[in-house]
Amino acid sequence: MDRRQQLGEVGRVVIKIGSSSIMRNGSRISRDFMDSVAEQVRFLKDSGVEVLIVSSGAIALGLRAMGVVPKPNEIPIRQAAASVGQGLLMQEWSDSFQRNGMIVGQILMTMDAYSDRESALNLHNTVDSLLKCGVVPIFNENDAIRTQEIRFGDNDTLSAIVASRTDADLLVILSDIDGLYDGNPRSDPDAKLIPVVTDLDSVRGYAGDSGSKVGTGGMRTKLKAAEICRDSGCNMIIALSGADQIITRAVTGEDVGTIFLTGTGITKKRRWIKSAHPSGALHIDQGARDAVLDHRSLLPIGIRSVDGTFGKGDVVDIMCDDHVIAKGIVSYGAHDLRAIAGRHSRDIESALGYRGHSDAVISENIALL
Ligand code: GLU
Repeated sequence: MDRRQQLGEVGRVVIKIGSSSIMRNGSRISRDFMDSVAEQVRFLKDSGVEVLIVSSGAIALGLRAMGVVPKPNEIPIRQAAASVGQGLLMQEWSDSFQRNGMIVGQILMTMDAYSDRESALNLHNTVDSLLKCGVVPIFNENDAIRTQEIRFGDNDTLSAIVASRTDADLLVILSDIDGLYDGNPRSDPDAKLIPVVTDLDSVRGYAGDSGSKVGTGGMRTKLKAAEICRDSGCNMIIALSGADQIITRAVTGEDVGTIFLTGTGITKKRRWIKSAHPSGALHIDQGARDAVLDHRSLLPIGIRSVDGTFGKGDVVDIMCDDHVIAKGIVSYGAHDLRAIAGRHSRDIESALGYRGHSDAVISENIALL
C-alpha cells in the first residue's frame, strides 16, 4: 500500500507548528516561513481540505518583545511573556494569511476543553462554524492562565487533542527532524528513518526515554501525541518543518517523514460513540427512524419520549419499537429534550428560551448498531 492509500481521503487536517519554526534563527521571526504556511494552507483549502493550525511561539515572541531572559523553570515571567506574545503571534499569522486572502481565528485551549464534555462539544461547534465561514482556526494553550498542574504541557500533546476533539483525519507535526529514527541521527550515521509505524509499542524504545541510548530530542511527546491520535482514529505524520512545501506534500500523500497509522474501520468518533455507555434513551417514531438511518440526523419532532437524566454532549441509545437502532451524542440535555419532544424545530426557541447550534437533537454524531 502506498502512502496515498494509507492516508485515504483527508477531509480535515491539523498542522502543528513549533516555536523553533517560527523563530528560525532563535531570535528573528521567520515571516517567509509563515507566508509559506499560509500559501500551502490556501492550496489545501482550494482542494477542499479543512485546515486547523496549532501554533506555538507566544512565549518566545513575548520574551523577545519584553527583552527578558528567564531563568530555567521560571514560570511567572513565561506566563507574562505568553500574554504579550500571543497577540503578536496572532498578528503575524493574521498578516501572513491575509496576504493569501484568508482570515484566522484564535482559540486558546485550557484543560477544560479536554476533560469537560460540554466544552468539548462547544469547541467542536465553534470550529465547525469557523470552517464553514472559511476561517482558519489557530490554536495555542492559554499559557497566561495555566498552572503547572493543569497544563497540557506541550503543543505536541495539545495538537493531538485538538485533532481528536475536532474529528480530524490527519495531524501533521512539523519538527526540526524529518521523522522517527531507529537511532539518534545526530550521533549515529547508521540510524534509519522509519517511514511507517503501525504498532506504536514496537517503536517506543526509539523515543529516547531515560533507559534508551538512541534518544532523539522531543520524540517522546510526539509518540504520546501519536497515541492520542491512534486512540481517536486519526493518522499522524512527523515531517521536517524546513523542507520545501512540506505541508502540502504530507497531506497529499507524498512519502515524507514518518506516518503513524491508526486502525481502519468506521470513523473514530462513531467507533467511540458505539463503545460509550449510554446515559439515557430516546424513543423515536418510524419517520425519525428513517432519518436516523439515512441521514444520521434526528429532529425533535420524531421523539416520542425520553428516558434518563443526561446532559448536552452525553451519549444516549436511540430506540424504535423497543429496539436500540443507534447511539448518538445529544445536543440538548434530558430536561430540555422532554420539553421539545414531538415539537417542530421552529418551536425550540419558544419552548426553551434558546436555540442550540442546529435544529437537530443529534446531527452526524450517530453510530448505527
Ligand atoms: N504554548 C507555548 C507557546 O506558545 C509553547 C508550548 C510548546 O510548544 O510546547 O509559546
